[in-house]
Amino acid sequence: MPQLTLSDGTLVQLPEGEPVGSGLDQDAIAARVDSELRDLSFVPDGDVAVEAVDAASEEGLHILRHSAAHVLAQAVCRLWPGTRYATGPAITDGFFYDLAIPAHVSVDDLPRIEEAMREIVAADQAFVREEVSRPEALDRFDGQDFKREIIEKIGEEEGEVAAGDVVSLYRNDGWVDLCLGPHVPSTGRIGAFQLTSLSGAYWRGDERNPQLTRIYGTAWATQEDLEAYLHRLEEAERRDHRRLGRQLDLFSSPEELGPGLWIWHPRGGVFRKALEDWVRDLHLERGYDLVVTPHIARSVLWKTSGHLEKYRDNMYPPMQTDTGDYYVKPMNCPFHVLVYKSSVRSYRELPIRLAELGTIYRYEKIGTLHGLLRIRGGTQDDSHIICRPDQLVDEILGVFDLTLEILGTFGFDEPVVELSTLPGQTIVNEAMAMKATEALTTALDRSGMSYREAKGEGAFYGPKVDLHFHDAIGRRWQLTTVQCDFALPERFDMEYVGEDNERHRPVMIHRAILGTLERFSAVLIEHYGGAFPLWLAPEQIRFVPVADRHVVACDDLAERARAAGLRAHVDATHESVGKKVRSAQVMKVPYTVVVGDRDLEAGAFTVRDRNGVETPGVPFDQIVTALTAESASRSLESTDFAAS
Ligand SMILES: [Zn+2]
Ligand SMILES: [Zn+2]
Repeated sequence: MPQLTLSDGTLVQLPEGEPVGSGLDQDAIAARVDSELRDLSFVPDGDVAVEAVDAASEEGLHILRHSAAHVLAQAVCRLWPGTRYATGPAITDGFFYDLAIPAHVSVDDLPRIEEAMREIVAADQAFVREEVSRPEALDRFDGQDFKREIIEKIGEEEGEVAAGDVVSLYRNDGWVDLCLGPHVPSTGRIGAFQLTSLSGAYWRGDERNPQLTRIYGTAWATQEDLEAYLHRLEEAERRDHRRLGRQLDLFSSPEELGPGLWIWHPRGGVFRKALEDWVRDLHLERGYDLVVTPHIARSVLWKTSGHLEKYRDNMYPPMQTDTGDYYVKPMNCPFHVLVYKSSVRSYRELPIRLAELGTIYRYEKIGTLHGLLRIRGGTQDDSHIICRPDQLVDEILGVFDLTLEILGTFGFDEPVVELSTLPGQTIVNEAMAMKATEALTTALDRSGMSYREAKGEGAFYGPKVDLHFHDAIGRRWQLTTVQCDFALPERFDMEYVGEDNERHRPVMIHRAILGTLERFSAVLIEHYGGAFPLWLAPEQIRFVPVADRHVVACDDLAERARAAGLRAHVDATHESVGKKVRSAQVMKVPYTVVVGDRDLEAGAFTVRDRNGVETPGVPFDQIVTALTAESASRSLESTDFAAS
């Protein structure tokens, strides 16, 4: 009789042939058996450690959502016989399914589909796992060409369905899907769900493939959680950086540029300058050196670095010239290696921390592009730290510190930390991978941050630590990456002269704290809802003349504010004062001062902040002093003039 050791230490005797679920609480929707996620119907063949997975946990939600995706495809197949279903993963906060539906289906059909899903949920159909041979699986998916393609490719792309010759299927009420599982025990356990949107998507994300209908939904452990999420969605819509980017006149992506490429308008340019100047200065203060490198390089560089071998799909095709083929850079690393190698390095010089706001280009699949969040060209706050092996852990810790300092300035704290080990495609040998992982683990342990491990999600040249942060409406963003690399120093034959006068191999840390500034800007815009803290606001104070005769006085005030370092503008349009104040509000200008005869006589003004709080009678010098202080301290709070 197998013995279950539950997470609280309780021992449960499980009758032979009984599933693990019968040894667990009613709340469980799946189980972690000897650290593998399993269905509750899993029958152990010996003693095992078992942990209940409940619906509200991160893993539980993933299982719940993935199960809901099955029901979605099942419902569509029921409504439109002949539907071919492609893939339906769980994603952050929900799930989707890509389907080839033999009818025109629009958002207007979502209620119908949802209704059919509710019937399947009400029927409480059991999810049954089956394991079959590959030929049998092909047979079972007769007419389902997407599934057949996946089955045929099993083994080529690891982890997609099952490695090896056994394919796992999940069946409920005769409807079957190809799937690794696990699932909730039955459809009745998918309680709170809703379909949210519909869009087009290409099979395997490739625009040369047929276009499919992608239906999105969300599922939660409880109705309250679902409603809270829908509220967050509305809020996210209101904060959408693409909408706010237009409204605030920050950037655009005109057709002529090409997908995923953006231009920054003057207001966006000023914001970028504030951000970039601070980032550069801080790096200099923290012992980094700034370097500048070109956007293209000969193919030999990318060959040595391994990019042509492992990263080519993400690179723009080469430019042919009479001095060879050139590639635009998808990463800055090889250039920084060349900076390092520009002279003989001694152990005394290390660590060398090379930093650059380096612009990179990646040929991302067109279907994955999304505003500034997923782009084809952008500027990274990239840095490469080259150090001796004995310095590695301290350097990684230094990066963690700088990360918390930089991101804390924007109001991001309490990171969710993930350690990703090497992927299948790599240029690193096992001994190097071990050393790199060990250094990251040691640094993580010493940092006191808790972390979880993500297997196989590292970069092709090394394992990495990612730091994710939550924004103002609770969404999680992966911002910072720290990678530990023993491979590039080897490939580029990087050296330093040691204390022993011998040549040694340094180690390299790749790190980007903000990622691309484009993506980070999008995150910031959504985090702040477009209302930047004063130090980042493109326009910090706007003067609104009551009548034309006050324009000259306003120009003079704006000049004085600018002399103090503030970004000040005058609204000299011929609109009414009310309209001008509203326009400042739409542009989310932090402070507006309406200037009329009485204000000028008194030399004191009514300051209006963008939340509509008005403080009358503030002397001009006091306004300027308060705002320069607020900006210089990079405060996240507006000045309370009434209190000062
Ligand atoms: Zn599944
Ligand atoms: Zn790098």
